[in-house]
Amino acid sequence: MVTRHDDGVTSIVWFRRDLRLSDHPALTAAAEAGPVVPVFCNDDRLRGPSGDVRLAYLRATLAALDADLDGGLVVRSGDPADSLLAVAEETGADTIWATDDFGPYGRRRDTAVGERLAEHGLTVHYRDAPYAVAPGTILTGGGTPYKVFTPFFKAWKAHGWAEPLERPDLELVEAPSDGLPDAPAVDVDLPPAGERAALEQLEAFLDGPVFDYAAARDLPGVEGTSRLSAALKWGAIHPRQILERLGPDPSEEVFRSEIAWREFYADVLLARPDSARDAFVPKMANLRWDDGPDADDRFAAWAEGRTGYPIVDAGMRQLLAEGWMHNRVRMIVGSFLVKDLHLHWRRGAAHFMEYLVDGDLASNQHGWQWVAGTGTDASPFFRVFNPVSQSKKFDPDGTYLRRWVPEIAHLGPKHIHEPWADPSGAPAAYPAPIVDHGEERADALARYDELKARTPSR
Ligand code: FAD
Repeated sequence: MVTRHDDGVTSIVWFRRDLRLSDHPALTAAAEAGPVVPVFCNDDRLRGPSGDVRLAYLRATLAALDADLDGGLVVRSGDPADSLLAVAEETGADTIWATDDFGPYGRRRDTAVGERLAEHGLTVHYRDAPYAVAPGTILTGGGTPYKVFTPFFKAWKAHGWAEPLERPDLELVEAPSDGLPDAPAVDVDLPPAGERAALEQLEAFLDGPVFDYAAARDLPGVEGTSRLSAALKWGAIHPRQILERLGPDPSEEVFRSEIAWREFYADVLLARPDSARDAFVPKMANLRWDDGPDADDRFAAWAEGRTGYPIVDAGMRQLLAEGWMHNRVRMIVGSFLVKDLHLHWRRGAAHFMEYLVDGDLASNQHGWQWVAGTGTDASPFFRVFNPVSQSKKFDPDGTYLRRWVPEIAHLGPKHIHEPWADPSGAPAAYPAPIVDHGEERADALARYDELKARTPSR
């Protein structure tokens, strides 16, 4: 059924990575102009690198948005331009509002959709970004994008951002909907989805944990981080809504800087879309990586959490069970794949994109490039993480290891990080290490020397 309204201009709001109603400038602009048709285009291309976990979480987020709209979300499957043209025709909407998208695929899609709509006299009006400061805004004195985080962070804070907007009053226009996308069955404990859940999660974090964040954020055995990454990914919460609540406490400042890393990587990816696939530092592209059947076996052991290094296996098992992995452990397992197993970071990045509920192209590819020493900032390749000393330092009593690697849960804090060193014999149920860290570290450094010899620095 279609309800037509005579008061004001009817607008479509095309929801994408902004699945919320509060602090939504495009929605507010549409609501101020008149009645609104809220549309989500269930575009097949969204499924590309996304695994079932992220799609299931997307569906749950859409269900929450639909409930907040009293069942008024119009979902259309197929090409977005066809969907928007059809809804405009059905509802008489003559304006389309959306939050801008800065990812490589989003930009290509928006250009193509814009061209199609223009043939029918329709334009998409873009307001705002999924970031506090839109990518491409912060530039160096020389007018170029930043390549290093710290000066970006300083300039980003100096630039500042608007106050969050209240949820607008909405007069909704009905249109036929294909219904929410099917939810793939996943055997994963998904985080709570939707705007209300994200705002509640933020409150709980601000209520205490944020003040211990600077110290606790590095300890995977402690629930010391916000767990807001999946909500941020789909825009169930806007970073402005987080930033406006942070005060001057040093721990709050560390948290603010983590939000800024997300903004920095989006900015870098906009300036260098090729960095989603290729080394950000071109000379690192020539590093020698392994492939072939042995490399595939090593990759499988890594992906399934059976490398024999407990901290690596714990992280990879957490990823499969929760669709999330602690940041410190993402760095450890990443370093292990690249520098102990000598596999290309892209392979690890693709695995993460398939299994992470918060999988985000900019943060993921650049998180991997940082780990691999091919990316922004001073993260030199020759700094190789030792999985045992990292484990001892950041999970000293083995809480995290015991949770995810039950085969070694009986070991005390002295041996749980390196079960092969237990004098009563390594646990039979747990694999011996698939590689020797010392040898592989030497191999990684030799490859780096080879690269330097082949590509002398200018
Ligand atoms: P918190 O510590 O509570 O941080 C708050 C928010 O700040 C996060 O939700 C996130 O939006 C942002 N943030 C924090 N750390 C980083 C960081 N290093 N880089 C960019 N943003 C950050 N994050 C993703 O959102 N998606 C990814 O696909 C992703 N892949 C990663 C891959 C690797 C190899 C590495 C090392 C890091 C990756 N990260 C990714 C960054 C980080 O691990 C997660 O954002 C964080 O663990 C999410 O948990 P949280 O929400 O509790 O984080």
